Amino acid sequence: MSTTAEAVIIGGGVMGCSLLYNLAQLGMTHTLLLEKDVLASGSTSRSQAILRMHYSNEVTTRLAWESLNVFKDFDTIVGSASGYTRTGYILIVDDSDRRAMEENVAMHKAVGVNIDIISAEAVREIAPMLAVADHEAFAYEPESGYLVGVGEKEYVGPDDYNQGVDMPLVEATCANLAKRIPGMRDALFRGGWSGLFTVTPDWHPILDRIKGIDGLYVAVGFSGHGFKESPMIGLTMAELIVHGQATTIDITRLDAKRFTQGRELKSRYGIAVLA
Ligand SMILES: Cc1cc2nc3c(=O)[nH]c(=O)nc-3n(C[C@H](O)[C@H](O)[C@H](O)COP(=O)(O)OP(=O)(O)OC[C@H]3O[C@@H](n4cnc5c(N)ncnc54)[C@H](O)[C@@H]3O)c2cc1C
Repeated sequence: MSTTAEAVIIGGGVMGCSLLYNLAQLGMTHTLLLEKDVLASGSTSRSQAILRMHYSNEVTTRLAWESLNVFKDFDTIVGSASGYTRTGYILIVDDSDRRAMEENVAMHKAVGVNIDIISAEAVREIAPMLAVADHEAFAYEPESGYLVGVGEKEYVGPDDYNQGVDMPLVEATCANLAKRIPGMRDALFRGGWSGLFTVTPDWHPILDRIKGIDGLYVAVGFSGHGFKESPMIGLTMAELIVHGQATTIDITRLDAKRFTQGRELKSRYGIAVLA
């Protein structure tokens, strides 16, 4: 039995698996993935896997957009379907955030994302179930997928938190949901679950090699966005490990030092998870 490996990956979630795959694609096959439970037993199996491109910084938008192409073509690239379901994604903000939305959409278009600012009238045509007001602002990504859920800020132990449903939170959310989608007023709650995600101070991950510990790399702190970025995280981290630098997408803005050097990424919006 071999007692050495070229790379040892800790954690068999979507990131560890993506990295393992991409290392192999770059020729590093003498690798070991360690998982303390079963594959995808952490955040990955709890994820809603929303694939949206709307972020306030270019690197995250690029990671999400290039990853979407992989999810769409997963069968050809990896050998089985990803389950990508194109639903479209509409971000709705109040008039006070219109300018922020316009700046983001301009940046997204420069990256190549299929996105547009649309009118309330257009929203009513695309999604007639939505109650929207003319003074709100809307960004539409036709190629994105899935629906958003809810969360609460609570610090808990990763191995002993309550994985059940928080009914008061569900009730409050349903009340809000019914304001935006009046047809949901009579909907029945069919069940749910709780999951954890790790959050960094600026709601973006750390992708870096750790200075002072030769050979240690981290891809952590995905702050609720990791699933959509995972194909490109695996690829760029594999490039960093094998070639010493990520070349497909420049990930240097996601370095660890940004938190001590005052270079945190900033969201143009007030809602942290929008990042
Ligand atoms: C409720 C919820 C909704 C989400 N919605 C979205 C969404 O809509 N869109 C999106 O893009 N992202 C979403 N996310 C975030 C996304 O799921 C995560 O960013 C992503 O799954 C992180 O993957 P990971 O591989 O880093 O972590 P994980 O999936 O948590 O994998 C880490 C693995 O490491 C293992 N492990 C831990 N310690 C050790 C150890 N010492 N030795 C060996 N193994 C160990 C764990 O068992 C686990 O399997 C959501 C997350 C949650 C919880």
